[in-house]
Parts: sequence; structure tokens; C-alpha cells
Amino acid sequence: MERRALPYEMTKRILSVFPEAELILIDHYKEIFARPRQDVGGQHLSGQLILAVKEGQLIYQGAPVCQDFGEDHFYYTSCQMNCVFDCEYCFLKGVYPSGYRVLFVNAQDFLEETKKLLAEHPVYISISYDTDLLAMEKLTGYVRAWQDLASSEPDLRVEVRTKSAAANMWDALKPLPGMIYAFTMSPQPVVDRFEHGTPSLARRIAAAAEGLRRGFAVRLCFDPMICLTGWRAAYGQMLEEISEGLPLDQVRDFSVGSFRVSQDYLKRMRRLMPRSAVVQYPYENIDGVYQYPPTLAEEMETFVENGLKALAPGKGVYRWKEQI
Ligand code: SF4
Repeated sequence: MERRALPYEMTKRILSVFPEAELILIDHYKEIFARPRQDVGGQHLSGQLILAVKEGQLIYQGAPVCQDFGEDHFYYTSCQMNCVFDCEYCFLKGVYPSGYRVLFVNAQDFLEETKKLLAEHPVYISISYDTDLLAMEKLTGYVRAWQDLASSEPDLRVEVRTKSAAANMWDALKPLPGMIYAFTMSPQPVVDRFEHGTPSLARRIAAAAEGLRRGFAVRLCFDPMICLTGWRAAYGQMLEEISEGLPLDQVRDFSVGSFRVSQDYLKRMRRLMPRSAVVQYPYENIDGVYQYPPTLAEEMETFVENGLKALAPGKGVYRWKEQI
């Protein structure tokens, strides 16, 4: 823990949850996090948490590989780096030099920075791209902090991307049109093979269904789609399970995209995971972004898009780089 993180409310809350934790005080999280040649995989499994104070730039313009949902002012932010889950294809393994989770406890600074942007124009911000913030909500209260801001800022839309499905996750939240809960949906064979430690498809469907029942804005994301043997059957079965498990006509919108990752990140991921089928797949490098060959990507995405259009006619389906 950074020494300067001590006085923050979030720090105190976390320390009270882990009274037995061995506390190592440091000056700056990068002393630990940014060292070269770290065992990223081992660190990830170790479950260590670094509490830090984020300084400098707090809000970023959306990257080209991100789905922007047709928004003019699309941003993202990293309140936490690394994730409690362990998806094999996760780009974070290619981004960060360490597998430790870093939690920035100065939530208020992120909100203040967003307010400055809101003074200029409406803001759409994804707060959970570099982690799964909802999975850590009990510990951090971050989603509630963003929710409080969204309740007083009508021009703010916040996307909370998640694979979590805790039974009581909605209890501490309140439905607001500006808070969009975006569930990543994957066929169970993809969950089993590549999304280690994440809730099953059935639990994600149940969590999204409960959110809809309580009036939350729910988005379903079929992104990243992963190509595995029998992908058609797997994705077809998934769509069937989803349409049986929740009212698709009440879902806000859908996003569809096949796996893609910047070339530099994939290079590092391949070094880290020499035996991973999803990482070692012979992707095509198109303009610095590794992705499935265009015909295959088109086939996969169109399959899910058409399935959604048949099951939920009239609903928006967004695809990476374009709205259909
Ligand atoms: S849930 Fe998202 S952020 Fe977390 S490991 Fe999986 S892909 Fe990465």
C-alpha cells in the first residue's frame, strides 16, 4: 500500500475487511508493479492487492479497438488495474508488466475529472475495461460512487462491463438510465475453456434477468466472440438459453464483436502463454490489430447479429467500428 493511500475512506474500508492482512508500505505502486521480468501469471494467482493513489491523467479517449456505441464523446478510465477473474484471452496480460491488482482509492478525483469534461459536453464513459469493477464492488463501492455522480448529471452515461453474477449484486444499487450494466455473454464451452474463475453463462443470464426485473439498464455484449470447434452450435445454443432466461425485448441494446487485440499486446500474451489455444491462434494482423481472418470474423459476428435480430426485432445491435 502506498503510504499516501492511508487516509482515504476506501483504504480504511478495505483494511477493515482484511484485518489480518500483512501490510507492506511503499512510496509508489510502480516500485512493485512496473518492475521488469515479473511472473505475471503467478502474481495473478497470488491474489495480492496494491492500494494506490492515481495521479496525472485519469480519463482517456476510447481506443480504436473499443466499441464506442456510436457515442461522440467516448471515454474510459481505470479505477483498478487487473481483475479478479482470469480470462485467458484478456488483453490486460499484454498491457501490464505485473499480475497484481492495483486499486486506486482516490475515487473522488476520477469523479471530479469527469465533471470537468461534463462542463464541456455530454460524456459516455466505460469504467470497467481494465478490470471487472462490479466483481469488486462490495470491497470498493466504486460503482455506487459513479452511480451517485450519474444521478446528478443527466449528460453522463456510465458503462459498467461485467462478467460477475453475485446473487445480491443489485441490492446496493439503484436503477438509473445513465448507468448501463453490460454483461459479457459467452457460450458455456468458452467459459469453461477460457474464462477461468468467472460465473457460468446460466448465472450471468440470471443476474442480467434480475437486473431487468428491477428496472436496471442492461446491455448484453457478445464480445469477444471466440472461435472454437463447433462455434455455430455453441453460439446458437447460447442465444437459445439467453432468450429463454430473460426478456430480450427489455434489454437496452446488444454489442457484437469477435476477438481482436493490438499487436504489441498479443506478442506479450504469446510469450506468457505458449500453450494457450486462444492466444496462439494464427490471427491476421490488419493495421496493427490481430484478429480473425475477415471472412471468419464476418461469419461469426453476422451469425450472432442475425440471431439477435430474429429474437429481439428492432433492438440496436452494435458491432465494432459500425452500428448496423
Ligand atoms: S473479466 Fe474482463 S477484465 Fe477480467 S480477466 Fe476477463 S476479460 Fe479481463
